[in-house]
Amino acid sequence: MDFYTMEKMEQIHKAYFYQCAKCGEPSNQLAHIIPKRKTRIKKYSKDVIHHPLNLVPVCSLKCNDSCDIGQSVQAERFLVDLINYVIESKEDWRDFIEERDAIIQFEGLNL
Ligand SMILES: [Zn+2]
Repeated sequence: MDFYTMEKMEQIHKAYFYQCAKCGEPSNQLAHIIPKRKTRIKKYSKDVIHHPLNLVPVCSLKCNDSCDIGQSVQAERFLVDLINYVIESKEDWRDFIEERDAIIQFEGLNL
C-alpha cells in the first residue's frame, strides 16, 4: 500500500486550505505529529503513523519540526486512540481535525 498517494496528499493540503498549519504560509510539505520513527511504526503500525490525522501541511522544515509531538506520551496515546477509532469506524478523518487539535492543545502543544 502506498501511504503517500497524490490524492491523499492533496486531500490533506485542501483540508487546511493549502496553508501551513503552523504559520499560515502556503503549504508545500506534510509533517508527522507522532514522528515516523521505526519504533513508533512498529508500535502503532504504518496505518496509524501515515494516517491523515497524523499529518499536517506545513511550509518549511522549521514549521515541520515544531509539529512533532515529541515526548508527550499522553497526547501520543490519545492521538493513536483517535486514529484507530477513525480507521475502524471508517468515518471521514476530516470530521476529527478539531478533536485532534484539542487533544494536542490540551497537552500544552500547539499546531
Ligand atoms: Zn509555516
